[in-house]
Amino acid sequence: MTRIDIAFQAVVLPVLLSFAAVSTVTWAGQANALTPLCAPAGPMNWQEMHQFVGCVAEGLRDEVWAENILPGIEIAPGVDAPDRAIRLEITKGCSLVPAYDHNRGVVSFPHALFYFTLYFQQAMLFQFLGTSPGEGDEDLLSYYDDRLRPALVRERMACPGSDLQKTGRVSRQLPSIMDRRMTNAERDAIFRKVNSDPATDRFQAYVALSPVFFTLLHEVGHAVLHPDGSSGEDHEEIEADDYAAAVLNANGLPVIMGLGIHQIFHSASRGGNDSALACRVARLARNHPVPAAFVDEFGQDIANRLEHFRRFYADEYQRRCDA
Ligand SMILES: [Zn+2]
Repeated sequence: MTRIDIAFQAVVLPVLLSFAAVSTVTWAGQANALTPLCAPAGPMNWQEMHQFVGCVAEGLRDEVWAENILPGIEIAPGVDAPDRAIRLEITKGCSLVPAYDHNRGVVSFPHALFYFTLYFQQAMLFQFLGTSPGEGDEDLLSYYDDRLRPALVRERMACPGSDLQKTGRVSRQLPSIMDRRMTNAERDAIFRKVNSDPATDRFQAYVALSPVFFTLLHEVGHAVLHPDGSSGEDHEEIEADDYAAAVLNANGLPVIMGLGIHQIFHSASRGGNDSALACRVARLARNHPVPAAFVDEFGQDIANRLEHFRRFYADEYQRRCDA
């Protein structure tokens, strides 16, 4: 049996378990989901990884959606909740694009994206806890661009006829940021910090949920703002982005933590850089500094790192937007 890199376990497991732990500290205390503890006790083989992802997906669909995300919308000032009940569906098949289906009142999120979210979370966590402020911003972005996104495109290109279509699973392990620049000692230090310091543990919970939450809230934005269906035009995408950003800000989550995966998800179907999307990401990064509530809770050091990354992202994506 293939054992997944032990290093991968060390940080990613707590990140995912945080779907349960996070619920009492985010969304201004509104959240109370009790997502089942999905992870096996030790290192996972690939089969266990599939089961784990399936369990996390079920928890998101059955509990976190109703108990965290929808209440999180209600408490955002100036942001309307959807006036019809919307359900979350975790989908299988070749499409890797999250969407809102206005005929059925359903937000769909592809099962396979959880794998990419996992690896993304790990990379973000290592970046924000493991390096000096600002160091590694480019590495993080190139990991997304050069390694994670091509893997996503490869999965899509192999479909139909692949595991992706039949089971929603990705066919092989994804490239980890661990392959590159982190030593075991650095990795272990992060793991110890997450385990021993409650604030760091909460921070990794924010890291864990922000990407998926941003994406889901963007689709909820379409449900609220474009109830007869979205045209896909840029101005409607920007409206949905602003909706998601407003909800995250109101709940104390930095918008920047949701953006990298947003870009990966949305460019997956196109297979390359999309300049309209780059403009949207640049705009979000520029307009949404780390919320004051986040700085109060987590302190200036982590906030500074996020701000550094946010400005880097704003500049880099503006360049791609202008290209
Ligand atoms: Zn959209």
